[in-house]
Amino acid sequence: MKRKDLFREGFKSVFQFTFTKADEISEAIKEVWQEETDQIPKKTPKSDPKQNVKKTKQKSKPTLVRKRKSKMFQTLSLPPGASKDFFSLCTGCNECIFACPYAVLFPVTATDSEKTYPHFDPNAKACHLCSDWPCITACPEDALLPYEVSETTPKFGKAKLLKEFCINEKTGESTCNACFVTCPIEKTVKFKGNLPVFAQSSCTGCGLCVETCPSFPKAIQIKLFKSE
Ligand code: SF4
Ligand code: SF4
Ligand code: SF4
Repeated sequence: MKRKDLFREGFKSVFQFTFTKADEISEAIKEVWQEETDQIPKKTPKSDPKQNVKKTKQKSKPTLVRKRKSKMFQTLSLPPGASKDFFSLCTGCNECIFACPYAVLFPVTATDSEKTYPHFDPNAKACHLCSDWPCITACPEDALLPYEVSETTPKFGKAKLLKEFCINEKTGESTCNACFVTCPIEKTVKFKGNLPVFAQSSCTGCGLCVETCPSFPKAIQIKLFKSE
């Protein structure tokens, strides 16, 4: 077996395990939700004039479930180069996931079907903005499109300093400049006094500064732009 195929098989078995666990977690959430909804008072008899009011309240429950689920996606970003029609063009083949040398991307099951879509979480694992974009190159559809020469980088979101957690704020000195050193985009991290400032116009939201920040909790958070 070729080395590439060996890696691919390895990835497949890891993701198969992830899918299985995700299904189990999903089932557990459904059970908890069912228990919660079972505790909601039952409908009154049809002849009761208050019946209509209660019906309306019960109808609003599924909407709440959808809102809770979609909130989870607000913390995740689509891969680099995601086209406007990403969700109709992506087949869920996972080729971009297999191609990423930093194992940044992972599949997320859609809320309304069994299909999976690649995502990443820049607050947990940063995109390295690879110069040759292996994820985009691997996409056999037009779901991920190459960047134009005029476009330099993707825009996943923007970095925000959580001042109280920054080591320099805690020490009152200029002890750390890890975010400045790590940022791959020139002139994006500057220092005002001893605290970093992130240029919103050029920050990509890649998350490399978050990953490198030695403080705990992290002193930087990526605020994602809405993708869906
Ligand atoms: S640009 Fe590189 S690190 Fe980022 S998702 Fe694509 S392959 Fe992975
Ligand atoms: S400031 Fe942070 S998130 Fe923004 S481009 Fe630089 S490393 Fe990436
Ligand atoms: S890497 Fe973190 S602790 Fe260091 S200066 Fe930047 S925000 Fe502060």
